[in-house]
Amino acid sequence: QQAHAVQPRPVLSRLPKYAAGKPPAPIEGLISYKLSSNENPLPPLPAVLDAVRGREDLFRYPDPLSTRLRVALGRYLDVPADDVVTGAGSLGALTQILNTFAGQNEDGVQDEVVYAWRSFEAYPIVVGTAGARAVEVPLLADGRHDLAAMAAAVNERTTIVVLCTPNNPTGPVLTTAEVEEFVQSVPANVMVVIDEAYTEFIRDDDAVNGLEMYRKYPNVVVLRTFSKAHGLANLRVGYSVSRPEITQHLRVIATPFAVSTVAEEAALASLEHVDDVLVRVDSLVAERERVVAGLQELGWEIPTTQANFVWLNLREHAVGFAEYAGRHALSVRAFAGEGVRVSIGEVEANTRFLEICRNYPNPPR
Ligand code: PMP
Repeated sequence: QQAHAVQPRPVLSRLPKYAAGKPPAPIEGLISYKLSSNENPLPPLPAVLDAVRGREDLFRYPDPLSTRLRVALGRYLDVPADDVVTGAGSLGALTQILNTFAGQNEDGVQDEVVYAWRSFEAYPIVVGTAGARAVEVPLLADGRHDLAAMAAAVNERTTIVVLCTPNNPTGPVLTTAEVEEFVQSVPANVMVVIDEAYTEFIRDDDAVNGLEMYRKYPNVVVLRTFSKAHGLANLRVGYSVSRPEITQHLRVIATPFAVSTVAEEAALASLEHVDDVLVRVDSLVAERERVVAGLQELGWEIPTTQANFVWLNLREHAVGFAEYAGRHALSVRAFAGEGVRVSIGEVEANTRFLEICRNYPNPPR
C-alpha cells in the first residue's frame, strides 16, 4: 500500500463483495441457460418494447419524481401516489432508506440494522456502506426467518429491521400472523422494511401482504420491484411504499433522476398490461411446482419456496454442484459451504436442471 495514495473508507474493506450471477460458459452443442440471478426468462411484453423503442427524449433529464409511474402504482396498489418513492431498482429504494435512517451518529455510535442471514447478499453491503452496524440473525434450519431471535436482537440502537419474504435465497414466506406479531413486539420507532421483490410469485394464502401491514402500522415500509415478475431487471425500477411521516424524509436524499424515462415508460406499459404479466407469472409458478415435484421425486429435500427459485442445501458440495451444472451449460448461484440457488427459467432449462440433479452423486442431506 502506498502511504500517499488515495484510500477508500476502511469500513468498505470489511464488507462482502456483491457477486452478480454470471452467464454460463458456452458448451459446444448445448444451448446455455442462466439460472443464477432470479431473472424472468421471458422477454418483455410487446407493449413494453413499443414503449421504449425509438424514444427521442433521451437528451432531457427524466422526471425526478417519476410522477406518472407513482400515480399508476398508487392506483394499482390502492395507496396514495405520494406514499410511493421510486428508485433504481428496489435496491436503490432500500439504499435510500438506509442512508436516511441508519448510519453512524455524531457521537460515533452506530445504528443497528437487523436482518435474517442468509438473505439477499446486498443487505450487508448497503447497511455497512451507510455506516450502520449489521446484525445478522441466522435462519432456522428450514430456511425461514427466526422472528423470535430477530425480535430479541432489537435494542435501543436498532433503527431498522429488514424482513425478506419470500426470502432470497431460501424461498419461504413469512405469514401475516408472524409479521403482525413481530411488528407489534418491536418499538414503534423501529422501522420494519418488508422486502417483497418476489411477491407476485406467492401462492400461499397465509403469506403476509406487506401493504396490509403498511396500512395498519406507521413504521412499516414495503419494497417492490419491476425486476422479477415484470422482467425489467435491466431497466432498474423499484419502489418503496410508506406513510408520509417516512416518505417526506426519503425524498431529502433521493438520487436525482435515478429512474430514467425509458425505465418509467416501460414500467408504465408493463403495469398497463399487468394481466398479461401475471399470466406469465402463472406459467413460471407452474414450472416452479414442476421443479419442486421433480426434486422431491429424486428424494432431494428443499425448503418450501414461494419465489422464482429453489434452494439446494448442498453445504460442502455447493461449489461442486455449480461446476457440474456449468459443464452442462447451466449457470446457478453457489454460496460456498452453504448451498445453491437455482432460478426457475425456461421449460428446457428447468428440465435440464432436473436431469443434472438426477445424475449428481451428492444430493442434499
Ligand atoms: N430484494 C431481494 C430480496 C432481491 O432478491 C433482489 C434482487 N436479487 C432485490 C431486492 C433487488 O432487486 P432490484 O434492485 O433489481 O429491484
